[in-house]
Amino acid sequence: MAAIETFHIDCECGSPLTVGIHQCGLNAICTSCQRSIRVPDLKKLRALSGDPYPTLASIRKIQKAIADRLAPFDGVCVSCRKPGTTEVPILFSEVRERFVTDHGGFRLGVPALKPAQKTEDVTEDTEIPLILCDQCTAEFRANRPTKGVNWLVQLAAWLAVTAMLQLLFQHWQVTLIAGVLFAIQIWRWRQTSLARELRRPKWLEPWTAKVRWFPEAIRDAMEYSLSVGAPRPLRKSSAD
Ligand SMILES: [Zn+2]
Ligand SMILES: [Zn+2]
Repeated sequence: MAAIETFHIDCECGSPLTVGIHQCGLNAICTSCQRSIRVPDLKKLRALSGDPYPTLASIRKIQKAIADRLAPFDGVCVSCRKPGTTEVPILFSEVRERFVTDHGGFRLGVPALKPAQKTEDVTEDTEIPLILCDQCTAEFRANRPTKGVNWLVQLAAWLAVTAMLQLLFQHWQVTLIAGVLFAIQIWRWRQTSLARELRRPKWLEPWTAKVRWFPEAIRDAMEYSLSVGAPRPLRKSSAD
């Protein structure tokens, strides 16, 4: 799958900016300070970005950069480039192979891949750390939605509908059955919408966009899911 190539350039204010090749030679607006920045031509952009692994797929670049402790996994905040203090683990789970088991469950033996248990998907999991400073961690936490907010709204809707049914039919049996059915429907809807939101959290997009090669890895993926772990103190690289 062909992905649009993106590059990271630095604004004068210190904020990194993601630009696409279609922006070469044009002006881009910095999301932090709203300054207009001239995007260099493609040749200069490639030289500037200095991709250490030009031939690898995006997800392999990420895995290698994590292992090599290269940017954006070098301990610097991906949002503001200050020294990082926290890492947020993001589990990127990519579907690698999908099998149709109409021949008695044929499966390729790929040792590096972990077969998913319930489905016939073979997924590959990569934990990608989002490195942040204290200030950006606070911003990240504020961004992260708290669960269960719309429970009250749904309860209110349920109460309103059952009350209406009771008024209409004056039959508590009818109200009871309809109330239960409606509750099951709400629950089903919650399961699917929650599952969807959990797999590909929209609020996370601006954050993954800050991590080099991450947007490309997402675009290149046949199917994927993302899950976010709890922020934890950044391990200092003094160990190596
Ligand atoms: Zn700026
Ligand atoms: Zn920061």
